Amino acid sequence: MKPAYPDHSAPADADTRRAIAPVICYPPETLPIPDLAACRDARDGWTRVAEVLVPARDARCFEVPAGHFFRIRSVEGPQVGDLNLWNAVNLAERFYSGKTRALHGTHLSTGDRMWTSHPYLRPMATITDDTLDWYGFDAFGGSVHDVIGTRCDPYTHNLLSHGGQYHHCCHSNLTRALADARGLSLAEAESHVHDVLNVFMCTGFTRDTGQYFMKASPVRPGDYLEFFAEIDLLGGLSACPGGDCSAEHSSDTATCHPLLVEVFRPKAPPAGWVSPPVNGYDRSHGR
Ligand SMILES: [Zn+2]
Repeated sequence: MKPAYPDHSAPADADTRRAIAPVICYPPETLPIPDLAACRDARDGWTRVAEVLVPARDARCFEVPAGHFFRIRSVEGPQVGDLNLWNAVNLAERFYSGKTRALHGTHLSTGDRMWTSHPYLRPMATITDDTLDWYGFDAFGGSVHDVIGTRCDPYTHNLLSHGGQYHHCCHSNLTRALADARGLSLAEAESHVHDVLNVFMCTGFTRDTGQYFMKASPVRPGDYLEFFAEIDLLGGLSACPGGDCSAEHSSDTATCHPLLVEVFRPKAPPAGWVSPPVNGYDRSHGR
């Protein structure tokens, strides 16, 4: 946050410096482009092979084999979800929120991909449908499905509430769910929990002070976000204690609802699709 009264006065050419036009860091056309049409065609005649109901203020894990699809669906009422994704056979390879943000922007929608951590850095999931794609950016600069937030967590809550202990933040929900899914201790599982895709959450940065904000999610029952699994995935989804995130999180105050995860097996993989290999950098780092 920038101070209202900075310590340093502006130089004579301040306006000239500010007027320099920005350059997009990572033009999307330089990335490998997913074949969205082939992915969507592959949905014809697919079979729903699994569903997991994530209870309110809790989390569950789910498996999605490479070449399958999954949907996160709003049921019962407006609710946001915090999504973690791991390589199902190597938890060290996990969703990299920061690089995904750099590549695709602050909020994800159809055609964007979720990328994995170093040294793997490859697409792990491609978004193939988003019933909230109509929302765009509102007048506050808010949009849906962000990769700018982290995940609500009990450590930040402890700081902000001067010692509070709250156990149903998404961080803890995901920790318990992963521990149960993989037979890990809570401490082991916690080290694998990472920054999330904030599914259905409506967020942005205030234009004047650059502060992270949230507002009531536009999601309604029946809305969904659909993904194509590029590699074998283990997912973790928390139905955030913030509910629709219209007021607060990290408490039992907000009205919360479950979220539904559905996994679909296509008759055949998308035409021409191959599961992406790990990143091609040779890792010699100049030596
Ligand atoms: Zn949360």
